[in-house]
Amino acid sequence: MMKKVLLLTTGGTIAARNGEQGLVPDIKCQDILEMLPEIKGCFEVDSQDILNLDSSNVQPEEWQYIAEIVTENLALYDGIIITHGTDTMAYTASALSYMLQNLDKPVILTGAQIPIEKMFTDAKRNLQAAFAAVNTDIKGVAIAFDDKIINGCRAVKVRTLGFNAFESISAPYVGEVYADGMHV
Ligand code: GLU
Repeated sequence: MMKKVLLLTTGGTIAARNGEQGLVPDIKCQDILEMLPEIKGCFEVDSQDILNLDSSNVQPEEWQYIAEIVTENLALYDGIIITHGTDTMAYTASALSYMLQNLDKPVILTGAQIPIEKMFTDAKRNLQAAFAAVNTDIKGVAIAFDDKIINGCRAVKVRTLGFNAFESISAPYVGEVYADGMHV
């Protein structure tokens, strides 16, 4: 049976388009799903645009808002995927890890170094890893980035340009994508 996933967008580079003053989050969850036809065939996806922020403007109020939406919806889905800017994604992941303890399902944050509509984007691969994580028995809050799944309270952004933007500090990866699929 196809797993049921809720995709929530909050802004960030992944959803950005060129605006007058640089990149601005603008791309909606429906557009993101349109760009992932392989996901549409494998998962039943509902989606919601819940915020539209550069993540440097994400504050504890937003963590609380995201936590509330996850809490209200998690029972209805096999997992929740949240797109988020990379600059504060590790902080949001950490905060959610402590706010939402003992989850029995995955809540996966992801984003991108390059917007999803650009040629060399890493957005699709990162989203694919996030969806793949929902197909495993990974539980709790984690970040999917550069083919790795990192525990939400272990992740740190260590690179601003490299696709391997996040590291897992003093803990192994929760999962990693190989040619034969996700290794947990
Ligand atoms: N400052 C932006 C943000 O964190 C851009 C960085 C990104 O998303 O990669 O939302």
